[in-house]
Amino acid sequence: MKYKKESHLKNIPRKVVWCKRCLMSNQRPRIKFDRNDICSACNYHDYKKSINWKKRETEFLRLLDAHRSKKNDDWDVIVPSSGGKDSSFVAHELKYKYGMNPLLVTWSPLEYTDIGLKNYNRLIESGFSCIKADPNGIIHRKLARLCFEELGDAFHIFVLGQTYFPMHMALKFNIKLIFYGENGEVEYAGDPSSVDKPYNDVIKDLKWQKKYLKNSELNSLIKFGIKNKDYIKKTDFNSSELKFYNLPDIKEMRRKKISRFYFYNYFKNWNPQENYYYASENTGFLPNPERSEGTYSKYSSLDDKTDGMHFYMRYIKFGLGRCTEDVSHEIREGHLTRQEGLALVKKYENEFPEKYYQDFLRYLNISQTDFWKIVDSWRSSRLWKKKGNQWQLKFPAK
Ligand SMILES: [Zn+2]
Repeated sequence: MKYKKESHLKNIPRKVVWCKRCLMSNQRPRIKFDRNDICSACNYHDYKKSINWKKRETEFLRLLDAHRSKKNDDWDVIVPSSGGKDSSFVAHELKYKYGMNPLLVTWSPLEYTDIGLKNYNRLIESGFSCIKADPNGIIHRKLARLCFEELGDAFHIFVLGQTYFPMHMALKFNIKLIFYGENGEVEYAGDPSSVDKPYNDVIKDLKWQKKYLKNSELNSLIKFGIKNKDYIKKTDFNSSELKFYNLPDIKEMRRKKISRFYFYNYFKNWNPQENYYYASENTGFLPNPERSEGTYSKYSSLDDKTDGMHFYMRYIKFGLGRCTEDVSHEIREGHLTRQEGLALVKKYENEFPEKYYQDFLRYLNISQTDFWKIVDSWRSSRLWKKKGNQWQLKFPAK
C-alpha cells in the first residue's frame, strides 16, 4: 500500500512548459506561468523593482521596535538557523545593525557535513547564543526512511522539525517575533498568492501546512508507517519524542500571541549572493572548496549530507535538478544569460550525488537495490524515457 502519493503530485500539469526567461518549468509544485510563458519567480523579480523599499524599512523598524527588549535584558527575536549563509546574514544584521537580541534556534540537519558544522560553529563564535535540537537518532532515521520511500524525500522529516521546533522555543521563552530568511514561494517560483505577505500565521493559515508540507504531517505518516512498514513499531515512539515535529498547542499559541513567522525578504531586497558575501565577511562563512554535485555552485545548501539527494529526487520527480535551480536565480539576477544557464544545466544537472551516497544508504538502513527501486518508483513516465541503459528526460529545457 502506498501513502497518499498521488494526491501530493496531482496538480502538476501534464504538458511540460519551460519559462522563456529563466530555466524553470511548470513542473515545479505551485508555480504559475503567465500567458507569455514567464514563470511566477521571474514575474516576482520584475515586481520587486517596483517595491518601495524605504517604506518597507520603516515598517521593519516599527516591527522591531514593537518587540525590542526594553532593558536589553532578554531575547527578543528567534532566528531559525543551521549555519547557512542566509540565516547567518539575517541573525547578524538583526543583532549588529538593528540592535536586537536574537536567539538562534537550530534543528540539526539529518547529518551535518564537515563544512556545514564548521559554518555553524563559526556563526556561534561570531557572537550568538543558540539552542540546538538533535532529535532521537533511532526515530529520526526511521522517519527519514519512511519519508524517502513514501514521499520521495528523506529531507521531509527535517523540514517538519525545522518548521515547528522554533515555534516551540518561541513559546517556551515567550519570544513573540520569529524571523525566517526568505519566503521561498515568492523568491524561487511557487505560489504567487503569498507575494506582499510579511509573515505566515500558522494558526490562521492551517491550510498552509497542507500546501507547503506535502500535505504530510507527522501523525498521518506515523500511522501509515506502523500499519505498513516492518521497521516501524508503535513502541518505537512516545509523544514527548514526537513533539517537535508537530505544531505546538494551538490554545497556548493563541494565549501567548505567538503564531507568526516573518520573512526577512519581505522587508529587504533579498539576494542570496549578497547574503553569501555578507556572511563570509561577518560570520566567517566558508564556501565548499569544490562545487556541489549536480551543479556548479559552492555556497548553497551545504550543511546536510542528504542535500544532494534531496535535489536529485526533485530532478527525478519534476525533471528540475539542483543546477536548474541555481541558474534560474542567476539568470533573473542578470549574472548569466539563458544560453549560458542552459550550457551549465547540460553539463551538471544529470550528475548523481555520489559523495554521500553510502552515508545516505547507511543512514536510512537500505540496500543499493532498494534505493534504486525507490528512486525509479518516483520517475514519472511522463517525464522520463529509457534509451539503452540510460534514463533521459523526454522534454528537456531548450
Ligand atoms: Zn522564469
